[in-house]
Amino acid sequence: MAGIYIHIPFCLQRCNYCDFYKTTQLEKQPELVHALASEIEMRAQMLNHTEVGTIYFGGGTPSTLSPEDIEYLLGAIFSNYNVTDDAEITMEANPDDLTIEKLSELAELPINRLSIGVQSFQNNLLELMNRRHNAEQAVECIKNAQQAGFDNISADLIYGLPGLTLETWESDLNKMAELNIQHLSAYHITYEEGTQFDKMLKKGDIKQISEEDSVLQFKALIEWSKANGFEHYEISNFAKPGLYSKHNTAYWQQKRYIGIGPSAHSYDLRSRWWNASSLNKYLKGIETGDPEIESEQLTVQDKFNEYLMTSLRTMWGIDKERLLENFGEGMANMLNKAVEPFIENELIKEVNDHYILTDAGIFISDAILEELIIA
Ligand code: SF4
Repeated sequence: MAGIYIHIPFCLQRCNYCDFYKTTQLEKQPELVHALASEIEMRAQMLNHTEVGTIYFGGGTPSTLSPEDIEYLLGAIFSNYNVTDDAEITMEANPDDLTIEKLSELAELPINRLSIGVQSFQNNLLELMNRRHNAEQAVECIKNAQQAGFDNISADLIYGLPGLTLETWESDLNKMAELNIQHLSAYHITYEEGTQFDKMLKKGDIKQISEEDSVLQFKALIEWSKANGFEHYEISNFAKPGLYSKHNTAYWQQKRYIGIGPSAHSYDLRSRWWNASSLNKYLKGIETGDPEIESEQLTVQDKFNEYLMTSLRTMWGIDKERLLENFGEGMANMLNKAVEPFIENELIKEVNDHYILTDAGIFISDAILEELIIA
């Protein structure tokens, strides 16, 4: 089973924390949509003998496209790939794009999952992040999406933001529970080099919250998920029973995927390659039939480290049998030895031949992984 990711790089304005590849050249949308359809066709032989179980429109902001454009791209995928009948088809969306009219048109398409970028229900923090919507629009948009028939909705929230208190974070989480969504992705804010937030931090215009407050907000998130029937199935992801993101879970389980569009990455179990992070270069490359691509061949060590980094962050953990099968006795034994002190300190537990982070281990997952991967 494989996945297809389509990158829609357009944004109407730039959020202060964001370091994804994006552009505000919206006038190039029609050109991009045609180029994406060409790339979809061009790459079809890569998944010749593999069924496609997930399709994901990410960005940027896919909801800047019209439902007709999305339908056209889905048509190109369905006519070139073997898409399963029950494929998960997700579209990321910003609340201000999802009008009632647009939602009802999208509901007519095979899209069966929406991932809505709420980020916060605090208007002062939404402004600080330079988001285009306000809290009221976010609430309305989730309600309207449900009204239009979407019954698998994920929302994103950011915590650890400058000025976010434990009380306001808990009230944001409770608002999510009231809205009866199926999935939550909650990320701690990061200050990536070159972003506006990074500049504001360096100038002293904003201040990071303390490490202690970050941990308290993460703890509150975990408590909230337990109290509201969500499974904490990956460090930053929470789902109602069984409603995990199939697309992202496939990434974490090292399944094959292809990425379409500027900056999109692909993976075929042995190597990874990615398109140019430039709309103009991408369009030119597709037009001439020679898209600019960079790639890397994955060594056994790369694959071992990636397996540890992705699987240990999930509730399924590291599968000892898979480790042995894929990496041999030497590497499997090396890991068995390396996890011993973490098991003794109750940071990792062994359940049915899987190494899984304990509740205490989840809080220091990065530090644990640093000890386990091969440098
Ligand atoms: S966070 Fe999303 S909407 Fe905001 S600039 Fe980044 S890609 Fe665009």
